[in-house]
Amino acid sequence: MNEENAFWPVLTARVSAEKWILILSALIAIVLIASGMHPGIVFLFWLVLAAALLSRSVAAAPPSVPVMQASAAGGDQLDTLVIVLNALDMPVLVVAADETVLLQNLAAEKAFGTIPQNTYLAARVRSPGILDMVRETISTGKINQIEHSERLPSEAVYIVRVAPAEISIDGGRQLYILSYRDISQARRIDRMRSDFVANASHELRTPLASLRGFIETLQGPARNDVKAHEKFLGIMHEQATRMSRLVDDLLSLSRLELKSHIAPDEKVDLAPLLGHVIDSLSPLAQDVDVTIALDVPDAPVFVHGDRDELIEVFENLIENACKYGQEGKKVEVTLSGGDEGSPVEVAVRDFGPGIPTEHVPRITERFYRVNVEASRSKKGTGLGLAIVKHILTRHRARMIVQSELGKGTLFTVRF
Ligand code: ADP
Repeated sequence: MNEENAFWPVLTARVSAEKWILILSALIAIVLIASGMHPGIVFLFWLVLAAALLSRSVAAAPPSVPVMQASAAGGDQLDTLVIVLNALDMPVLVVAADETVLLQNLAAEKAFGTIPQNTYLAARVRSPGILDMVRETISTGKINQIEHSERLPSEAVYIVRVAPAEISIDGGRQLYILSYRDISQARRIDRMRSDFVANASHELRTPLASLRGFIETLQGPARNDVKAHEKFLGIMHEQATRMSRLVDDLLSLSRLELKSHIAPDEKVDLAPLLGHVIDSLSPLAQDVDVTIALDVPDAPVFVHGDRDELIEVFENLIENACKYGQEGKKVEVTLSGGDEGSPVEVAVRDFGPGIPTEHVPRITERFYRVNVEASRSKKGTGLGLAIVKHILTRHRARMIVQSELGKGTLFTVRF
């Protein structure tokens, strides 16, 4: 930005700011002329007064334009710095040695609001940790960084770093670059990962502890008890199966995570696929005394997808509907759409107890169950819907859950 370009907008702004003094002095001038003073002399005096007023204002005025552009008038290096900092997605403030803010990039403006130029850093940055760190860097010239949490406008964790930078404005001036690296997302992922490991270990530890207990009993007190052998071996088999189901689900999840960014490109007709899933689930449906009704259009309904993964999705949804909606006695599976650009939808409806509203947003989280005991007794791992969600994300499809207590639940998959 050059000097001339900066001068006219500032002058216009100052005329507007000083307009009342200018108007008042013009009125006084008119009164003086009316009372007999020479108009030329009065006009000359008014002109000198106005020029003095405006030149003082222009020189002293803090620019009302955002810090970033106003400061760019400082020189070539600063111009380049403005361009570079604005291209960064992390908030950056450039602070002078007197602790005033000289520049603020666009990301900082978005994160912390506009900071007028020459504002003291302490007036906008309340954290004593950051202020002490900046002061230390100003006095020692050493790079410093600290971790800092913000609560407003939303919770965020930053690594705040300050580093000295020599920029040749005003004949060489020491500046300090204060940058905020947002690590909130990384923190969230870390927490999710450790929660996941803790949950997975806990899920595996329970059947393992039960297996060890039974092995010890069979080796000790029940060594010669044939009846106990039979009973305990049955339970041990159940626990081992539970563990292998869990390991299968965990492997399935990690496989899906690896290819989550690759969209599947097979063309799959959903009508026969749903028929196949329902056939394979009919023994389970019979066990729990549930009838599954399938309603599909006559014409094929194609989606781009991975056949095996789509089978896994509908197996999970229909199995859940049979298990948790058992008392409703029936499950309806409906395939619709696909013609004239309408979205393809698969609806799985049960008439069971439903899911309490507060649980609905969380049921696709790993290991989240509305009722842990009910899920375990129905051979659930708490991973089924998490797998479904992963597969659907990869298929660019989404799942809508509608549930009414006492009436049942409707899971809709929309492609
Ligand atoms: P699980 O292996 O426990 O079945 P899911 O991830 O498949 O795990 O489901 C998570 C939880 O969501 C279940 O434990 C159950 O509480 C609830 N849920 C899922 N489907 C239904 C349904 N059709 N009706 C009622 N609750 C359901």
